[in-house]
Amino acid sequence: MVDVVVAGAGPTGLAAACGLIASGCTVRIVDSAPAPATTSRANGLQARGVEILDRLGATGDLRSSGLPVRTVAAYVNRRLVGTLRVGEPTRLVRQPGVLTSQALVEGALRDRLGELGGKVEWATAVEGIGPDDSGVDVRTSAGETIRAGWLVGCDGAHSTVRKLTGVGFPGVPLVESFLLADVRADLPLPHETVHVWLHEDRMIGAFPLPDGVWRLMGPGSGDAPDAALAAAFTELSGLPIRLTDTVWSSTFRIQRRLADTYRTGRVLLAGDAAHIHSPLGGQGMNTGLGDADNLAWKLGLVVAGRAGIGLLDTYQAERRPIAETVLSATTAQARLVIGDGPVTRLVRDRLFAPLLDLPLTRRIITDATSQLRISYRRGPLANGSWRRRGQRPGDRVADLPCRTRDGALTTLRQLLDYRWVLVVPADPAGQRCAAQVADRLGDIMVVTPERGRLAMLVRPDGHIGWRGRPERIGRWLDGLAHGQV
Ligand SMILES: Cc1cc2nc3c(=O)[nH]c(=O)nc-3n(C[C@H](O)[C@H](O)[C@H](O)COP(=O)(O)OP(=O)(O)OC[C@H]3O[C@@H](n4cnc5c(N)ncnc54)[C@H](O)[C@@H]3O)c2cc1C
Repeated sequence: MVDVVVAGAGPTGLAAACGLIASGCTVRIVDSAPAPATTSRANGLQARGVEILDRLGATGDLRSSGLPVRTVAAYVNRRLVGTLRVGEPTRLVRQPGVLTSQALVEGALRDRLGELGGKVEWATAVEGIGPDDSGVDVRTSAGETIRAGWLVGCDGAHSTVRKLTGVGFPGVPLVESFLLADVRADLPLPHETVHVWLHEDRMIGAFPLPDGVWRLMGPGSGDAPDAALAAAFTELSGLPIRLTDTVWSSTFRIQRRLADTYRTGRVLLAGDAAHIHSPLGGQGMNTGLGDADNLAWKLGLVVAGRAGIGLLDTYQAERRPIAETVLSATTAQARLVIGDGPVTRLVRDRLFAPLLDLPLTRRIITDATSQLRISYRRGPLANGSWRRRGQRPGDRVADLPCRTRDGALTTLRQLLDYRWVLVVPADPAGQRCAAQVADRLGDIMVVTPERGRLAMLVRPDGHIGWRGRPERIGRWLDGLAHGQV
């Protein structure tokens, strides 16, 4: 018997497994693939994704090895019309995201999983499930039936777990055929710029990847995506291209789909198994990491008997609206970039592309794509706090100076490591509050605010759980245990 089986060792499954082990669960993580993927789909960690890996202790050297991409250049009819500066901080995004490959992100997460004592069981597909009131029998292609308390399906867009539980995945295709090729090529272009050429209802993007590889992407069809994209590249950009090596190529359909529910009894869904959308906004991997971040500590509390199953319903209540927003935004973005209709093309070419030069546009795009604005204020654990001003339960916690128990001065965000953090004054009421929280939630970190008498409990996923007077925390802890405060 194991507490949790995680199906799928992509970014979502690996982050979930790390978070679950950090929360005290026993975990088996299985993947149908024979070995880790060496090719990459996502080529960027948003600021939120970096924060999640930081808290899980899984950032490794991703930051220092990230690509130094500084600009996105947009060309309309071969003419440069707008240049967006990327990777620069804003007031919200102090530490911008990292351009890197999904394969490297997965590698860093696997390293962390190993440090935590876990390991991926490759060539082991989930093929059948038998859920009941107390657990799930998980049948694998290795001929084993694993008895688990819970099954988390992180097995991607074609999720077997989702299909076996009969959960609907309604949605629509956005682009019938989209081509991708990661190539080594002689290109007369700087490797620290993303280039996008737009011409009527056609587009092609050239994205720098590590090791001098370029990713070519655009709508189209054909058996040889690399050759088709090279031809489209020359036609739309007017530049020569000579392919020397194709690392990976693929043809796929861009769709938007959202699972009807994220939990069916003891089976949960996360990542692409629960939502898929256009890759153009660079949000998919980051949204999956966010799901794992939100789910792991909740499942940890339930497995430890510190919360009732009702807490798990807050996972869907908090995360599904986020996926809905991401789906809408990435759909609008895909339609704009691809030039879906004459009016959209006019807006794209005459309005949107030239505006990329403006600092305001840069700030809006950097902030929106960072995922740092995500808040669970309207969720069941925030007690209607969205009506009030300032930092409230549900919000991503802002940084603040504080002192650790040994008196060292630091800042709160530097301390976050997938544990609960209680910020309370070092007085008897604060000490009683700390004892109460430790009794209910287990391993917590206690710090004191450097200024004022702030009392606040920060969840392992870096969002404010509770804020108020230390003697009043009991009611919130009772509510947390039932998933409604
Ligand atoms: C071209 C492209 C570009 C993209 N660019 C970006 C980007 O820039 N930024 C971004 O954030 N996102 C991007 N995405 C999206 C991103 O790649 C996905 O959202 C991300 O991979 C989802 O991670 P996941 O772990 O949920 O699923 P996956 O990465 O699909 O992992 C699922 C895992 O489950 C395994 N599996 C499947 N079936 C079973 C089974 N029955 N049993 C056990 N294991 C199973 C698979 O082998 C796989 O390892 C892009 C996607 C594409 C296609």
